[in-house]
Amino acid sequence: MGLFSKIKSGLQKTRDQFSNAVNSVVSAFTRIDDELFEELEEILVLADTGVPTAQRICEKLKKRVKDERVTDPALIKQMLKEEIATTLDVDNSLKISTKPSLILVIGVNGVGKTTSIGKIAARLKSEGKSVILGAADTFRAAASEQLQIWADRVGVPIVKHGEGSDPAAVVFDTIASAKSRGSDVIICDTAGRLHNKKNLMDELAKISRIIARELPDSDVEVLLVLDATTGQNAVNQAREFKNAADITGIVLTKLDGTARGGVVLAINDELNIPVKLIGVGEQMDDLQDFSAQDFADAMFD
Ligand code: GDP
Ligand code: MG
Repeated sequence: MGLFSKIKSGLQKTRDQFSNAVNSVVSAFTRIDDELFEELEEILVLADTGVPTAQRICEKLKKRVKDERVTDPALIKQMLKEEIATTLDVDNSLKISTKPSLILVIGVNGVGKTTSIGKIAARLKSEGKSVILGAADTFRAAASEQLQIWADRVGVPIVKHGEGSDPAAVVFDTIASAKSRGSDVIICDTAGRLHNKKNLMDELAKISRIIARELPDSDVEVLLVLDATTGQNAVNQAREFKNAADITGIVLTKLDGTARGGVVLAINDELNIPVKLIGVGEQMDDLQDFSAQDFADAMFD
């Protein structure tokens, strides 16, 4: 399957709901008026863009309609698509050019951190990079076992300690191992749940200090993984993690199973963090660079 058809099939639920609703609104109106924009706003909110983002998009469309003296409701759809593509068109490339560079993967339990790490490792390896994984989710034994399975599947080394050990120490050892092996990219998993929220945030801060100390001149990506199926909840999680870490990008997973694809717009607009990668399935190759244009195209037919 080509890349575009994958995102297209991934976003099928979102498109079915969203595109159909836009079509029926557009065809129900004979002229463009406030009522049409109210209905559009509602459709955007239903696709989980959040109210502020839906309002901003509609304001922009209204202005364009006025400036360009558009009268045909049928043209709204194309304009909306262009608006979505333009809003989302930011630099979303991974900055990992130093040797080594590090990707720290954070997010709450179950969002798809470990799976995304496996997918990212597979992709980097296929690009000829040497990758090493650090199992810094030491909260449950099953977590590092799951990362071990991905390491074996992809064929990359992994550093892990026992259950309950200090996650920052795992990160430290992984960096040391990467330096001695000459690895290109270090990817560290983290726990998504600790005894309490303060605990989790303190631990992320400690890990960040170790990284800054051990790799002062390296590229570091801090990727927050969010589960698209949780809609606005994902936006709330991003807000909380933003206080605890210098997030450089979002990995938005499970876009294949949801009609809430509009959450991409909310994250971009309300949090100003680029969505860099999207997960569109559970398999090794179900991870894509986020492309604003492909996304906008896939939201419609
Ligand atoms: P973690 O707790 O954040 O490490 O989450 P996991 O990586 O263990 O993933 C939790 C579940 O989500 C697993 O069953 C994964 O297979 C599934 N998952 C992860 N990414 C995706 C995705 O993009 N699409 C779908 N459908 N499932 C995913
Ligand atoms: Mg995990």
